[in-house]
Order: sequence, then C-alpha cells, then structure tokens
Amino acid sequence: MTARQSFGVNAGARAYNLRGTREEAVRLAAELLCGSETKPCGKCAHCEKVLRGIHPDAEFPSPETGKKQLSLERVREAAASAYLMPNEASARVVVFAADELSVLGQNALLKLLEEPPAHIHIILFGQSPASLIPTVRSRCAELRGTEVYGETSPKPSALAEELISAAKRGGAALSKLSFALEELDRADVPALLNELRRRIAAEARDARSPFHGETLAKMLSTVEECGKYLEYNVGTPHIAAKLCAEWG
Ligand SMILES: [Zn+2]
Repeated sequence: MTARQSFGVNAGARAYNLRGTREEAVRLAAELLCGSETKPCGKCAHCEKVLRGIHPDAEFPSPETGKKQLSLERVREAAASAYLMPNEASARVVVFAADELSVLGQNALLKLLEEPPAHIHIILFGQSPASLIPTVRSRCAELRGTEVYGETSPKPSALAEELISAAKRGGAALSKLSFALEELDRADVPALLNELRRRIAAEARDARSPFHGETLAKMLSTVEECGKYLEYNVGTPHIAAKLCAEWG
C-alpha cells in the first residue's frame, strides 16, 4: 500500500473501525485531513505532518510508560479533546488502537461515538475485531486495511493448506485464519471445500499425520456441513466461523 492509496471513506461517517495496522490508521488519518482533491495526496502539509506524527489535529493517545492499555483518565482526556476545534486542518482525528482500550475505556467513548461533533473523526484500529465491544462496533463504519491479508482475496488452495496446518497447531491459529476465510470470494468457497476434502484424505493416508482417524472424520463432516450451508445461501463469515470453531 502506498501513501497515496485511499480508503475511499464514506463522507457521512465520523467513526471508523479499521481492521488494519497502525501504519494504515496513520494513512487513514492523512486521508481524512488531506487538503488536496485526491486524498490522501501524501504531499500536502496535512498529509506530511500526519505521516510524520506531528499534525496538531491528529491525536494518537498512547498508554502511560510501562502500561499496555490506556488509563481511563487518558481515554477521557482524548475524548474531551475531540470537542476542541481544529487548529490547522478542517477536521480533527483521534486514533485509538483497539487493543489498548479496556472495556471501561471503550464505554467511556460511547457518548462521543454516538454523537460526534461535526469536525471530528475517530479511528479505532486493530487486527482483531474481537477487541471491540459490540456497542462500540455498531457505532463505527467498518473499513479494512489491505496489509493484513494482502491486497487480493486469498486463493482457495493456499488457504486450505493454511487451514490444515493451523488445525495441527490448534485453536488460536485457526481463529486467526477466520478473517482470511471471511475475505474469500464466495465463488471460491466450493473450491476451498474440495481442496479441504482432498487434503483430509491425504492426511488419512499419511502414517505420520498427527491427526487421529476420528479427528479427520470429524473435520470432514464439518466440511460437508459447510457445503450444505453454502447450498442454503449462508454467508461466508458464518461458514468461516463454523469451520474455525469446529476444527479448533
Ligand atoms: Zn494531502
């Protein structure tokens, strides 16, 4: 992703849940404050200051030294600063890392997220949507960065291989893959399921496979159930969740 790549944000949105990296959150902040017609231009004073971390209207609250999460006081301060008028740009941006926000901290942001002043944008970013509580998520427009899982939708065969290898490592490895699975083009799901059937059969023939026959039979039956879900037009996120939960 280049500094000029746009998230194409919706003009009406004020709060964003960005599934992406810190670097992408900075680029999104630049896009929101950029003074050029094509945003972010990466060259104007606003873009430049945001990218260098010195724009007075782009705030990135960080936890106190030695702490992993923002204190409630710091969250409240940042929320209060959102009501200040912008200094240089036409808007202000406050950026939070979702995993630096405690549940209390997230609750302290609810009022701001519900009725943000017209000149403010709030960005919550992180790689796991699970770090935000549902009441916060429902108040934010969802955006996806491209750096998390590459710029194109994943390939069924590569994904099948990753799924099998994640199943060998257990639960957490699988839940990380569920986002990649959700990204899979719906038209590619049958190919993924076929690939999984093929790989499960290969594991069954392989004497060194760490899977017991019983486990493989269970994995296969999940794949078949996912195939049925597909026939009933169940969405890809549900199929992804089922596969990752039952294989984990
Ligand atoms: Zn710019």
